[in-house]
Amino acid sequence: MPTGELRLNAEQYLMNTYTRQPISIVRGRGSKVYDLEGREYIDFVAGIAVNLLGHGHPDLVLAVQKQVQHLIHTSNLYYTEPQVRLAQALVEHSFAQKVFFCNSGAEANEAAIKLARKYSYDKYGADRYEIVTMTNSFHGRTMATLTATGQEKVQKGFAPLMPGFSHVAFNDLSEVERAITSKTAAIMLEPIQAEGGVHVADRGYMQGLRDLCRERDVLLIFDEVQTGMGRTGTLFCYEQFGMQPDIMTLAKGLGGGVPIGACLATEAVAKAFSPGTHASTFGGNPLACAAGLAVLRVLLDGKILDQGRRMGETLAKGLAVLKDRQRCVKEVRGLGLLQGVELDIDGKAVVADCLARGLLINCTGDRVLRFVPPLIITEREIDRLLVALAQVLSQRTTSSHH
Ligand SMILES: *Cc1c(COP(=O)(O)O)cnc(C)c1O
Repeated sequence: MPTGELRLNAEQYLMNTYTRQPISIVRGRGSKVYDLEGREYIDFVAGIAVNLLGHGHPDLVLAVQKQVQHLIHTSNLYYTEPQVRLAQALVEHSFAQKVFFCNSGAEANEAAIKLARKYSYDKYGADRYEIVTMTNSFHGRTMATLTATGQEKVQKGFAPLMPGFSHVAFNDLSEVERAITSKTAAIMLEPIQAEGGVHVADRGYMQGLRDLCRERDVLLIFDEVQTGMGRTGTLFCYEQFGMQPDIMTLAKGLGGGVPIGACLATEAVAKAFSPGTHASTFGGNPLACAAGLAVLRVLLDGKILDQGRRMGETLAKGLAVLKDRQRCVKEVRGLGLLQGVELDIDGKAVVADCLARGLLINCTGDRVLRFVPPLIITEREIDRLLVALAQVLSQRTTSSHH
């Protein structure tokens, strides 16, 4: 279907929930995707930090092909090997001892919220259920996770919100200290607020949160839906803060593009769930878990995780140079291959200019360009981004000063 017709049909048949770029992507290879007219784009979006191994990675393709021939879905009324193997692999490489599988980030966070409340209920009774989250956070679009999300634009029009959530400023330990009451069950945050504009937590803050939560027996929940699976240079972002959460959620990169989410927890916390307390029909199905296993194996064999870490440094350095040379760049923030560039001009126009030059980039909020390429991105591809960005930003700033 020609792109123009596709756009019209999309408008006619799809609910109007997304602002889309005016291209129709038909194929991907490595860090590149191709539109219907055959134009090539270097993909610094990766399906919003999802396609960790790029497009068409042979190990992922083979794993999915093999699994799809054997078995796609059974429900959790039965055992399936890929689910147990993926859980084991995640446990062996994280702080956690137990895993619950679901299908998305929001669902993983729902599981985390329910688990924290149930843990607190079992131990302290019905009055201790509150969850403290951060302003400017993003935890998903279901009713509980949009309530947890500290952004009015996500919540507006959906009242009444869920009871039992409060918000405090990110990276301010004293605010969390003041917010914890006898009703508090958990603190929930992203190690890097990604959708909120790429704000990285301070090391001292994270360690302070850990101590505070331990003292008060309040659970510490990390939403690593975006930061997990090698995105920030280590398998999980928390590893870089010298501490561990009690509960962690994963999704985006976990299946390399196949939908899957996971909620991980320590043994003591996970005990709060028992048969009948939480469930998902699709959660942990063999197809999604075979994909997750393939992604994890490729990361753990070292090369891709290392390459991602090195490319993260290359990208961060290049963006720092850009900041020195471009007066419209206010700040560069991030870890590994989750980098943000805050502008003092409109970011959407920059995204459009980059698209015209064969680069997919994304803007969060109005003014923060976000770069989350596949971990297999190369130095040459990063160079092409940096050259194009320098041209686009120079043009934009000159034109806005005329
Ligand atoms: C994307 C994201 C979510 C929501 O994930 P969905 O799969 O869209 O439900 C939650 N938390 C964080 C940190 C995210 O980046």
